[in-house]
Amino acid sequence: MRALVMRGFGDLAVEEVPDPVPGPGEVVIDVACVQPSVTECMLIAGAPVAMHTVLAARLAEGPTRFGGHEFAGVIRDVGPPGEGHAPPGGGPRPGDRVTAVETAACGRCAACRRDRPDACPRPQVLGFSTPGAFAERVVVPAKTVVTVPDGVSASEAAAVQPLAGAVHGHALAGVRPGETVLVLGAGVMGLLHTQVARRGGAGLVVVTGRSAAKRDLARRAGADLVLDAADDVEAAVRDATDGIGADVVFETAGGAPDAGLAGTSTLDLAARCVRRGGRIVMVAVLPEHAPAPLGLLRERSAALLHPRSGAGGYAPGSGAFEHALRLVRRGDVDVAGLVTHRLGGIDALPKALEITRDKAAHGALGPAQVDLFDWEHQ
Ligand SMILES: [Zn+2]
Repeated sequence: MRALVMRGFGDLAVEEVPDPVPGPGEVVIDVACVQPSVTECMLIAGAPVAMHTVLAARLAEGPTRFGGHEFAGVIRDVGPPGEGHAPPGGGPRPGDRVTAVETAACGRCAACRRDRPDACPRPQVLGFSTPGAFAERVVVPAKTVVTVPDGVSASEAAAVQPLAGAVHGHALAGVRPGETVLVLGAGVMGLLHTQVARRGGAGLVVVTGRSAAKRDLARRAGADLVLDAADDVEAAVRDATDGIGADVVFETAGGAPDAGLAGTSTLDLAARCVRRGGRIVMVAVLPEHAPAPLGLLRERSAALLHPRSGAGGYAPGSGAFEHALRLVRRGDVDVAGLVTHRLGGIDALPKALEITRDKAAHGALGPAQVDLFDWEHQ
């Protein structure tokens, strides 16, 4: 089969590689649609974030495969039974339309044996610790497979992993009916959190955005009040909440300015907008020693919550993924509207990575997707 192979940072090519064979408890999936994540694009380009040192060490040893955890496809082959529990319904079968939870706890370490898979220090992460779906076929543990319901396209299913993350963030914040939710940022994560808040019974939903186009999307995503990020957001939030502040703030705007993100000042803004006793959920990924307004958070008794990356805290057998797919199937959440660029064929993968890494330069809203085949007419 063909797959994306990395020989150095930014040095990529689609090449012939050996066909994958499923081991015990594994399945092989024909990839129908895949989209890069922004973090993957930054890592592949050589940015010093998250897993950079791990990837650098692997590249020093030779060519490697990296990335590709947001995908959908059709099961091609099922390996012999493995350890662990089969998913409900007897497990995946050839021909099933599926996606997969990206993180699987090891199942053997002390934390896993004590029923704390979210504390597993060595989880298997698709595209990071094992070859991902930047390829014609991908191998995943059967226990991570999630069935895609009828009526959900491959494109939508490939985009559901970040939505599962938004579902997870919403659950972590424990948003109660009628509470005021402030979403900082109207990029993909901001718009997904806006839609989940709307469908999750939030009261007033306030969203900030830097561009008129994104503010318009925030309105269509169900925001009651949309603010220009350049204006006095704190004053507008106080005004809209009778001076109380937001019950819950989702901070999705911060991060590296060279990736089009807002730096570290948005955490400070979140602390100034949250009510006393409120919660801030850090969706944004900031540098290890980013400045934080700890005195203000203490004074307000505000909680600063950190969701697991992706939907990892819910893996495997992911309720968050299944719920996210249900939201899409019912039309409660629109993920298709966030996909502005779709490319055809596996050779388009390097181009998709380039578009996703610098979305603003390409006029893209979300990640660029690559369609490998049409599962409606296979
Ligand atoms: Zn473990």
